[in-house]
Amino acid sequence: MVSRVIPVEEFDLVIFGGTGDLARRKILPGLFRRFLSGQMPAGSRIIGAARSDIDSDGYRQMIRDAISEFGGAEKSETGRLNDFIAQLHYLRVDAKGEAGWKELHELIRFKVVNAFYFSVAPSLFGDLAERLHTFKIADNDSRVVVEKPFGRDLVSAQELNDTLAEHFDETQIYRIDHYLGKETVQNLMAVRFGNMLFEPLWNNHYVDHIQITVAETVGVGGRGAYYDKSGAMRDMVQNHLMQLLCLIAMEAPSQFDADAVRDEKLKVIRALQPIDPHHIVRGQYDVNGDEPSYREDAENPKSFTESFIALRCEIANWRWAGVPFYLRTGKKLKARTSEIAVVFKDIGHSIFPGDEKRHRNILAIQLQPNEGMQLQVTIKEPGPGGMRLIDVPLDMTFAEALGPDADDTDAYERLIMDVIRGNQTLFMRGDEVEAAWAWTDPIIEGWKARNDVPKLYDQGSGGPEDAMALMHREERRWREIKE
Ligand code: NAP
Repeated sequence: MVSRVIPVEEFDLVIFGGTGDLARRKILPGLFRRFLSGQMPAGSRIIGAARSDIDSDGYRQMIRDAISEFGGAEKSETGRLNDFIAQLHYLRVDAKGEAGWKELHELIRFKVVNAFYFSVAPSLFGDLAERLHTFKIADNDSRVVVEKPFGRDLVSAQELNDTLAEHFDETQIYRIDHYLGKETVQNLMAVRFGNMLFEPLWNNHYVDHIQITVAETVGVGGRGAYYDKSGAMRDMVQNHLMQLLCLIAMEAPSQFDADAVRDEKLKVIRALQPIDPHHIVRGQYDVNGDEPSYREDAENPKSFTESFIALRCEIANWRWAGVPFYLRTGKKLKARTSEIAVVFKDIGHSIFPGDEKRHRNILAIQLQPNEGMQLQVTIKEPGPGGMRLIDVPLDMTFAEALGPDADDTDAYERLIMDVIRGNQTLFMRGDEVEAAWAWTDPIIEGWKARNDVPKLYDQGSGGPEDAMALMHREERRWREIKE
C-alpha cells in the first residue's frame, strides 16, 4: 500500500477506555496542557470510546471535571478549557462486540494522523486490533498506543506482540513506559552524549557502581488484589528500572533515532547476567499501628508477593564488566523518590594529611519529585585551619536552573505528542520487552521453586535490613531515600 502523505499538524486520537482512570487522571489533563501551549492544532479531535452509556456532552462534562480535579486548570484558563472540551467527542464502543464500530469508521478521518490509544485491560488489545482492521478504521499509517503491563512473562508478552503484529507493523506500535517520557530521562541522554565531560569516565575504569532507586510512600491500597498477582519485579523492575538501566549503560547510538537507540538498549538487556539468588532481597511491608500490612492490603494472608525488591546485577560487556548495578524499588518507604546515582571510584592516592574520609564523586540524577542533577565534588572547606576537605553538590535542579519556564511537562503528554509526530524513540520495541522478560522470568521462577518468603520491613523505612546488607557486605551503601 502506498503511504499517505500525512499533514502531521492535525490528528484524530481515539482513546479506548476514554472513561477510565488513566484517561481521566493522566491522558486528558495532559492533552489539555498541550492544548494550552498551542500544540493541539485546530481541527484535531479526541474521541473517547468505551461502553458507558453517555453522549459527547456527558463525556465533555466528565473530562471537564477530571481536568479540574487532576489537571490543575487555573480559573483564568476556563475559556481555553471550553475550547479544548469542544474538541472532544464520545462514542459507545464495545471492544468485544459490534457496537460502535461502524460509527467509529464514519467518524474517523483518513486525511489526518490517526492514533488509537488502548487504555484498557491488555486482554482487550487483540479484540481492538482485530476490529480496527475488520471495520477498516485503521490503515498502514495509523498508530496504536499500548499501556503497561505488556505481558506478565515472556510467553504472554510474545502472545501480545504476535496479536498486535497480525494487524500492525512494528513501526505503528507505541508501547508506553511513561518513565521514558520524563524530562530527566531525556536529559540523561543529552548529558551522556552531548558532553565530552562524562563519557570518557563512563566505564569500569572510573565507575565503582551504579544505584537506581524508585521509592514510593504509598502502599498497594485499593489495587492490592491486582498487585498481588504482579509484585515489584513485574510491576517496576521489568519495565521502569530496566529502561533506566539501559539508558545509563548503553553505548552511544550512531544517531538519535528510534531504532538506533533501541538497538543499543536491547544489547544492554541481552548482556545482563543471570542473578545469583543471594543478590536479591525481597520484602513485604509490615503492619504499622492502624496501617495495614501488605498481606492485609493484598487481602491474601499467605501472599509471597514482594512489595519491595533490591538486587545486584552485572552487565557482561567491555564497558561494564565488574561494575555492580544495584536496583531497588518498593512501596511504603521513607520518601517518594526516583534517583539514579553513578558512584565513581575513590581517588588512587590522597595527598592531604589527616584526611581519611572516603571522598567520591557521585552524579545523582533525580527523576521525581524534583527533576534535576547533582554532581558531588570534593573541595576545600572554606576558611582558615588547614586543608579540610568536604563534599558539596554542584546542583542543577531544573526548576531552579531554568527558572519559571522550566519544563514540567508531564511524561504522558510528551509521549502522546511523540505518537502524533511518529517518533518511536521513547517507546519500547517488541524485542526489547521480550528480552526484558527473558531475563526476569528465571528469577521469578527461582523464587517459586524455592518457596522464597519476602522479608518483613517497617513502613516508612528504607526496606528490609537484608537490603542494607546486600551493599554493606561489599563495603558500599545505599544512598539515603529522601525527597
Ligand atoms: P479502568 O479505570 O478500569 O478503565 C478501563 C476502561 O476500559 C474504562 O474506560 C472502561 O469503560 C473501558 N472498557 C472496559 N471494557 C471495555 C470493552 N469491552 N469495550 C470498550 N471499553 C471497555 O483502567 P485504567 O486504570 O484506566 O487502566 C487502563 C490501562 O492502563 C490498563 O491496561 C492499565 O494496566 C494501564 N495503566 C493504568 C495506569 C493508571 O494509573 N490507571 C497506569 C499505568 C498503566 P467502560 O466500563 O465504560 O466500558
